[in-house]
Parts: sequence; C-alpha cells; structure tokens
Amino acid sequence: MTAQLHVDLGAFGENLRVLRDRVAPAELMLVVKNDAYGHGVERILPRALEEGVTWVGAFDVATGRRVRRLVGEAIRVFVWMLPDPDDVAEAIDLQLDLGVGDAQLLEDAAAAARRAGTTARVHLKIDSGLRRNGIRPEEWEAVVRRARALEKRGAIRVIGVWSHIAEASDADDDDARAIFDLALTQARVAGLTPTVTHLAASSAASARAEFRYDLVRIGAFAYGVAPAGGPSALNLGLRPIGTLTATVTAVESERVHVDAGFLHGLPTALAGAADVGTPAGRRPLLAVEALQSLVGSWGGAASGDTVVLYGGGVDEPTATEWAEAIGTIGEEIVTRISPRLPRTSE
Ligand SMILES: *Cc1c(COP(=O)(O)O)cnc(C)c1O
Repeated sequence: MTAQLHVDLGAFGENLRVLRDRVAPAELMLVVKNDAYGHGVERILPRALEEGVTWVGAFDVATGRRVRRLVGEAIRVFVWMLPDPDDVAEAIDLQLDLGVGDAQLLEDAAAAARRAGTTARVHLKIDSGLRRNGIRPEEWEAVVRRARALEKRGAIRVIGVWSHIAEASDADDDDARAIFDLALTQARVAGLTPTVTHLAASSAASARAEFRYDLVRIGAFAYGVAPAGGPSALNLGLRPIGTLTATVTAVESERVHVDAGFLHGLPTALAGAADVGTPAGRRPLLAVEALQSLVGSWGGAASGDTVVLYGGGVDEPTATEWAEAIGTIGEEIVTRISPRLPRTSE
C-alpha cells in the first residue's frame, strides 16, 4: 500500500444535490479549476453530468479543452483566463463561453470570431471592487456600447454579465453587488440582453439569496471544502469528498512513520499543528519530511495500518480543519496534493 487519495463520488453527488436545492431557481456552475480542486476532472465530470450539471467553470482553455473532450457539446463551458489571442481563438473554436474582463480582450474575441466565421459567446466582467481583473466601472459604459456594436455585426453575443467578490465581509459584498446592479442596468440601456448574470461563489451563493442571480459558480463546497469566511461547508450538510490516507511503514515507541510527506503535497507547517486519524483515534502529526511523516503512536500500532491524514469520517480531521490549523483555506490543502499520488474513487 501507498498513500492515496480516495474520492467519494456518492458524497460528491449528494453535495451537488444539496447545493442545487439551496440555490434554486439559480443554476449551478461547477468550477473545476486546479484539476477539480485536486480530485481529478476526468473522475468528477461524468458524475456531475449524471447529476444534471449544465455549466462547468473551467478557468483556462487547457481545462476547457479537457472538459469538451469529456462531455462533447452537451453543456456550457466557461473560461475566464485568456492571457493571449491564441487562447481566445481556441476557446472560440471549442465553443467555450468567454469571460471578458477588458476592452482589448473584447476586440480580440470579436476579431477571432470573424476569422472563424462564427459568433463568440461573451460574458462581460465588471470589476466590482476586487481589482483583480474586470472592466473598471468608469470604462464600463463605453465597453458595453462597443459590445453592442460588435453584437450588431454578428461577431459576438453578450450572453452574460458577471463579477467576482471577496466573500470575506458582508458589507464589502453588498458594495460589490450595488456596483454589479448598476453595471447590469447600464448594459441593458446599451441594448445588451444578457440572459446569464452571475456574481457569487460557494460562500455568498450558500448564505445570501440576493447574490444568486441566474447562476452561481461553485467550487469548494461541491467538494466539501470550505473557503475563507462565510458559512462552513459542514454546517450546510456538505461532506468532504476526498480522503487522503497513508500507510504505517515503521513503528517506534513514541511515534510511527507513514508514507506521505511534503513531496506528496503535505505542507510542512502542519507538523505540530494538526492531527491525523488513526485506528485508535486522533494523534498529532509530529513531523513532515520529504517522503514520509511522523505521527504520535498508539497501542498496538503496526506496519501496514492505515491512517487518515484528512477525510470526512467521524473523528477524522477534515482538509478544512488542517487549513485552519495553519491559517490558510481548505482549497489550498486539497489542490496541493501531488497529481502523482494514486487516486481511487467509488
Ligand atoms: C475559484 C472561483 C470560483 C469558485 O470559488 P469557490 O469559493 O471555490 O466556490 C468562482 N468564480 C471564480 C471566478 C473563481 O475563480
């Protein structure tokens, strides 16, 4: 046996059902960036389709290509990381929906669509305060007018208007929502008719109905992982879908060796800060080395025993709990797990 990540697709399906019920009538876009938050796009996506997911948030074109290969034309695939014109051309070729956060990208999309003899599906992004990417409010009216002109020529179609919020404080999110609402009004005044408006990710979508609009972009909660702030995934009845296990390889009097270390993606900061689940209950994680870690021993510990590094079972630490122990967010833990570590699923 070696360390491995077990993915519980049953729990994933249930999480999707809980979330879809909660956000209805808004639709759910499943975000699969970072290889479905470390759980594997190829493993996750077929189950998502069975559950009726119709939108996938792929982040970049490389992921969008993988998603298209897996699901064909059946669903809408949204990408918003388009650093150069080649990405834009390929995204249009793959019939992806493009998140467009600057005026130049709008021109690139229109030009690429004209060359390809098609119409680009565009979601215009207003910067509602995060300042990461997005059209600034003072430029917005000019950009929506330009988008309408390009639409009339058939080069683009503005399917959506969207933004991203911090979800760290309700007051900041409320300010962002006011900016978003104004931007929507201005887009409509310019003659655009977006049918898919979207603002919230896991936290705001789960906690605040007025943030749901037509569509919510859900990553962390679908995998049972909690992001920073907001309601905890566990309080909503969502279960972690990933369980990381390792095998005891040697037993000393005070500690045992297990076969997962920082080269497998365990943060070294966890040593002395986090627990793991053992057959005798929780024990402290004492050290994280390259290929192994040291765990506090228990009576009867033997080589070949399995320890749960994180998971979702009774008395097992969760990835979110590990994250809290070292001051980060759950997705930082799960997305770091090495892709070379074997994955299993059921
Ligand atoms: C990652 C991401 C999401 C999903 O966020 P979660 O908190 O994991 O649900 C949504 N929208 C955008 C733009 C993102 O980058």
